[in-house]
Amino acid sequence: MSPTFALTIIGSNLAISAFDRYPTAQILQIHQHLILIDCGEGTQFRLDKFRIKKNAIESIFISHLHGDHYFGLIGLLTSFNLSGRTAPINLFGPSPLIEILHLQLKHNGADLRYPLVFHATETNEKQLIYENSTFEVISFPLQHRIPTTGFLFIEKPSLRNVIKEKIDQYGLRVEQIVAIKKGHPVIDHEGNEISAETFLYPPTPCRSYAYCSDTLYDETLIEILKNVSLLYHEATFEKASAALAQKTMHSTSEEAALIAKKAGAKQLLIGHFSSRYKHLAPILAEAKAIFDNTYLATEGDTFSVAYEQIAD
Ligand SMILES: [Zn+2]
Repeated sequence: MSPTFALTIIGSNLAISAFDRYPTAQILQIHQHLILIDCGEGTQFRLDKFRIKKNAIESIFISHLHGDHYFGLIGLLTSFNLSGRTAPINLFGPSPLIEILHLQLKHNGADLRYPLVFHATETNEKQLIYENSTFEVISFPLQHRIPTTGFLFIEKPSLRNVIKEKIDQYGLRVEQIVAIKKGHPVIDHEGNEISAETFLYPPTPCRSYAYCSDTLYDETLIEILKNVSLLYHEATFEKASAALAQKTMHSTSEEAALIAKKAGAKQLLIGHFSSRYKHLAPILAEAKAIFDNTYLATEGDTFSVAYEQIAD
């Protein structure tokens, strides 16, 4: 069974909540790591609703400083205080974000009782911004009215196991098995070198998730998003409002699907819907006409990616 790689939608709408849709927030779980992506107003209450353990969140990624993507942040960060959090949290976002938070905290009269480690995102170029032993995160610029980045989360390959039959066949000792797992060859009794590949199971594919919050249709994204396992791309408007999408620097569902298709994404989620739409079926149909494996980002839904789903 694949270790967890799953995205849960916490909020899927733009600024004004409507039809039980709320401003943007998502939870990404990669193995045991819990990540919050954007934090629209009221995010903490919807995390409770969906029974997500807030204190287990290790890092937060904010795409840009339009309120519908971060107005829930100060509430969440100060609630961590009330729940006795001591574990540090990594926060990534445009550089003015920390200034805003410091001002709010200063006048709130309370210090955070856990370390808040802020990392300013580079909004002009692609950059590796975080990595641990399980995954890495790359930020990349989006075309929006204010500086905005998307985020690409890539799982790292896990250490491969040695095939059991080969252990018996070659009479491998424990220290040899350890060396093979690290990629070292084995020397047999005749002095022949046998490559580690001979003994190892094939590598598991690495799953990835890309988040494109608010952006114009932008073909420079295609290279960055190449073969991504799961792509979230905003689709604020339907095709008939393409001019409005252009003017407000947003995308239509058709444009989101075109990016998914051209990038060779395996699966597409669309979201950040305008409050003008009560029914989202037409928006979904427009995207599916171009990229069939498209789903609506809907509050409370979880999209899991298994290794089998991304194998070619
Ligand atoms: Zn925006």
